[in-house]
Amino acid sequence: MFEKVLIANRGEIAMRILRACHEMGIKTVAVHSTADADAMHVRLADESVCIGSPAAKDSYLNKAAIISAATITNTDAIHPGYGFLSENAEFAEMVEDHGFAFIGPTADHIRVMGDKVAAREAAVSSGIPIVPGSDGEIKTAEEAIKIAEEIGFPVIVKAASGGGGKGMKVALDKSKIREAFNLAKTEATAAFGDGTVYIEKYLTTPRHIEIQILADNYGNVIHLGERDCSLQRNNQKLLEEAPSPSLNEEQRRNIGEIASNAIKKIGYRGVGTIEFLYENGEFYFIEMNTRLQVEHPVTEMITGIDLVREQIRVASGATLNMKQEDIVFSGHSIECRINAEHSDTFIPSPGFINGYHAPGGMGVRVDSGIYSGYRVPPHYDSMIAKLIVYGKTRNACLMRLKRALNEFVIEGVDTSLPLHRRLVVNDDFINGEYNIHWLEKFIENKNS
Ligand code: ADP
Repeated sequence: MFEKVLIANRGEIAMRILRACHEMGIKTVAVHSTADADAMHVRLADESVCIGSPAAKDSYLNKAAIISAATITNTDAIHPGYGFLSENAEFAEMVEDHGFAFIGPTADHIRVMGDKVAAREAAVSSGIPIVPGSDGEIKTAEEAIKIAEEIGFPVIVKAASGGGGKGMKVALDKSKIREAFNLAKTEATAAFGDGTVYIEKYLTTPRHIEIQILADNYGNVIHLGERDCSLQRNNQKLLEEAPSPSLNEEQRRNIGEIASNAIKKIGYRGVGTIEFLYENGEFYFIEMNTRLQVEHPVTEMITGIDLVREQIRVASGATLNMKQEDIVFSGHSIECRINAEHSDTFIPSPGFINGYHAPGGMGVRVDSGIYSGYRVPPHYDSMIAKLIVYGKTRNACLMRLKRALNEFVIEGVDTSLPLHRRLVVNDDFINGEYNIHWLEKFIENKNS
């Protein structure tokens, strides 16, 4: 087992990884930008190294600075968290070339799944159903029109290198396809330095359901059920739950088996998530994330499995110490992403937190690095905390979520707490009747 792990991330996920390491008796190295010198994970880590100025490109995306920090601290392994360099194949390679273990999959798996066109091909050849669409890259607007007419409108033009909901444009009919193609291509080039786009049928009422996978280096693969992440704004998740209110046990087992078999086929190691759109009883693959997900805690709550611990064990060469039949799904869990942003306008709200009280009590978990007196820097993602609750039933979970949200106090910055409080009393949400477009309508209709 590793003696020392460097955490190449910040915020709540740096805290999450640090906690798992310390519970395993592993020493931690925090790396941070000058803007994060006072961050909680920096205070709690055994060692810390400043790796650059606030802009992510100078610090958390600065590969050479991170490798140097690992070298001078005599680290065994590097955990990339999510975002930043977590799905950067070149970084994974660099880490291993310098003699450190990368707590994640191989660079080749990151590369294939990071290219959504290649990922669609890999999915098809591993027996996973995909959203109907183009066979590969679409090069011209004329080609886009031809394919769109074949699969039928509406369609969505997507960036092959896409992420975070960027580089996606919907065309409702033929008159809009040229514009969607050009916009998606321009946005993709600007955001990812790669203008490759492809086309998918645009599903109008799907849920976003994803399967958590855990695999070791020796071909042992299990799935840990699904998460329903349909509550999204701008294609970004705001609240996630497990299990999905829309799946029964048989559907769960079937899609879990399809996902596990595919993962076994490609020889993947570590944690991973296969994302699907789910409509009228059918699953359609959209992408695979080759890293820990923001919403991983809801899976932990209903399975009792510490995913970060397992990720570290597997990366150190350990064999999975559980089989599919050992996995018992019990109860229900919901996660709310708390962002430092206005709950109506969604304008980011960095600044000084002058009052903080986290909810507690049975079945309540808060993953966060903030505290009273902390300054939320303006340079990074606005998510500052995750509230995760557990209940024996979905209803018990909802009641607990409501009371935990009412206890939560964050003063000095605007947060998404008011939006979550309005959401948990909404009938559609309470009944589990929502799809990926529901939240935007809820917000548009002033939350009624
Ligand atoms: P990213 O990597 O940017 O997160 P994804 O491919 O995972 O992109 O898609 C993000 C979200 O965009 C999905 O959860 C869904 O809400 C929406 N989306 C993506 N593809 C489609 C599609 N074919 N039809 C309808 N919605 C889609």
